[in-house]
Amino acid sequence: MLRHAEIIAIGSELLTPNRLDTNSLFLTERLNSIGIEVELKTIVGDSEERLEQVVREAVKRSSLVIATGGLGPTEDDVTKKVFARVLKRQLVLDDLILDRIKARFRRRGMEMPANNARQALVPVGGQILENPAGTAPGIWMATEGCDVILLPGPPSEMKSMFEDSCMPRLSEMAGGVRLFKQVFKATGITESSLDERIAPIYAKYKNPVTTILTSPGEIQIHLIGRGRSEDEARKIVTELADKIELELGDLIFSRGEENLEQIVGYYLMMREMTLAVAESCTGGLVSQRITSVPGSSSYFLSGVTCYSNRSKIDLAGIPPLVIQMGGAVSAEVAKGLAEGIRTKTGATIGLGITGIAGPAGGTVEKPVGLVHIALSMESSMDHQEFRFVGDRERIRQWASQAALDMVRRKLI
Ligand code: AMP
Ligand code: MG
Repeated sequence: MLRHAEIIAIGSELLTPNRLDTNSLFLTERLNSIGIEVELKTIVGDSEERLEQVVREAVKRSSLVIATGGLGPTEDDVTKKVFARVLKRQLVLDDLILDRIKARFRRRGMEMPANNARQALVPVGGQILENPAGTAPGIWMATEGCDVILLPGPPSEMKSMFEDSCMPRLSEMAGGVRLFKQVFKATGITESSLDERIAPIYAKYKNPVTTILTSPGEIQIHLIGRGRSEDEARKIVTELADKIELELGDLIFSRGEENLEQIVGYYLMMREMTLAVAESCTGGLVSQRITSVPGSSSYFLSGVTCYSNRSKIDLAGIPPLVIQMGGAVSAEVAKGLAEGIRTKTGATIGLGITGIAGPAGGTVEKPVGLVHIALSMESSMDHQEFRFVGDRERIRQWASQAALDMVRRKLI
């Protein structure tokens, strides 16, 4: 049963900062979805010699080799030539393909340049993969111990060819394995504490496979299960997912692709509440995130960036004395921002954020990373103090995440 694959991306431009090899990312995602793991990928420039070295090794060590690029009509497109040589197949001109390429040019009112005849060369025994989106056909060569697939480089051609002509056959070769994926997103906990709590649970399972990914203020837990049917894969994942969910409780804010601002928006809408935000150190990041959600106009009233002391007084109505006594970064100022913006806008919830994002401006009592966040409602005032670590962007990201999570927790 086919379990592993190797990818070769061909093209000198892919070795420069100008062009990224995105084809292999697409292929990996599609292969993973049918239970085939990519073990190795190589990027090779348009060098016949280097490519030949790579291909010789690849067909020896892998049972599936997928190459993209270098099927074009120019001198530097050497993919077919090299694969034919390594696999000891002659290249022969396929008249049907040649006619099709000629017709394609004629439809555009042009004569086929002689160069393009190269694209009609096929290694003996190779099966042709149709290219409805371009001229270069792909080729599938089944040899003993290794299936080789040659795909064109242009991503749109490569994708449609792979999807239509390769996926069904590969899926069968992989034994019809179906994958099911469950993603949890959590916040308000560090990666190590989270792992401490769930590792004893997921470590008992080889299937599903658990992966933990982090970004500032957010931890994603990916569970990928494989089964003989989608239903079976789903059942395998659900068993572990239920246990993880029970352990983490409301640290989990999403059971799918939704981000925190979408979840917050969902709760605000459900409770028919409105939100306004006064931000200092996050400089509008929270407002930006909230308004990136379509439909946010129904619950988001206003966001102001009060960076200077003056603006905290003028825009959020903080008494000057509060800033003089506690400094701009203090619990009182965060509370003042939250309450001020709430009463000025008439929102159900007012959020105030002030902190030191760094790299300068920190002191012993108020180090870089200190952030105060307050949430004001008519009958309540919540405040939290955070000490985030990292660079300016990281601290701002953490702060925006913490602020959104305070709203979420208030509403669940
Ligand atoms: P080729 O088939 O090598 O002539 O490539 C044609 C076009 O596809 C060029 O513009 C390449 O930059 C692009 N291309 C080739 N390989 C890749 C790849 N692995 N990822 C993304 N684009 C690619
Ligand atoms: Mg190329």
